[in-house]
Amino acid sequence: MSIDKTSCKLKSKNLQVIVNKITEATERASKGEDGVQLPDNQESITKLINNMRTYLIKDISISEEAEKSTLFQIQSTCHPFTESLSKSLGELKEQLQEEFSNSEDITETLNKLPIKPQDELFKRVFGCGQQCPFCKVPCEAGGKEHEKHHAAVHRPQGLGRYRDVATKKLVETLCTTDVHSKCKFRNTETKYEWHPYKDYMDYYPDWLIPPDSTIEASDYWKYVLVQYNERFAQEYEAKPADVPEAWRRITKEQALKGLKDAFIINNIQHTILNIFKTKQH
Ligand SMILES: [Zn+2]
Ligand SMILES: [Zn+2]
Repeated sequence: MSIDKTSCKLKSKNLQVIVNKITEATERASKGEDGVQLPDNQESITKLINNMRTYLIKDISISEEAEKSTLFQIQSTCHPFTESLSKSLGELKEQLQEEFSNSEDITETLNKLPIKPQDELFKRVFGCGQQCPFCKVPCEAGGKEHEKHHAAVHRPQGLGRYRDVATKKLVETLCTTDVHSKCKFRNTETKYEWHPYKDYMDYYPDWLIPPDSTIEASDYWKYVLVQYNERFAQEYEAKPADVPEAWRRITKEQALKGLKDAFIINNIQHTILNIFKTKQH
């Protein structure tokens, strides 16, 4: 978050959203139900503040008490008050903007957040608890309601224990490749009858396994299988997979890059954005 002032940019973006909302609410609140400007007297301020409270209720909770004590302190009439309000809103925005651009302690910022990014990230990675029927990658739809389970990156099916019954070798192909091929699978679900991968929905209607659009994204798992082929075989009491020669040339850097591009960076930015967007009291 310190790189390229990412956190500063996120904060500024949200600040703009908040300022816009307050400005809009002030403009709306300064008019009566008939759309006519409230008269310039002290009573109108009560109406103005009350309106603002109603319009902003979804974003800011202002207690009735706070509203009353604010009203008690205001000595001016409605129009100059509205002007002062928008002026100080502008000043506050600039002041905050400057605070954001000064170097900040990210850890401190994160500690102050009402929702912890690490919890949100965990929820996303943990998903809904379902796993791809072929490669066992967890569904990434999180706790949200979703029609179909899905994952951004699938992996060689051997990592999910899939093996060739005859040779006992772990299966090296990705499910995202197989669902677009003429290949067939069989397991307990199909009662060991061969079934085309492309018709996987016959058995797993809740899963959406897309075509392999981001080949590099799976580089990470291909690399993992190449590196730990023997150990997976041992653990799963199978024979090592026949990995394609091309996979052996994937470097650690490429593997990590694929993972970052497809997953971590997207996920973190998405999650942090959502946290900043979350309504704060
Ligand atoms: Zn899969
Ligand atoms: Zn799911």
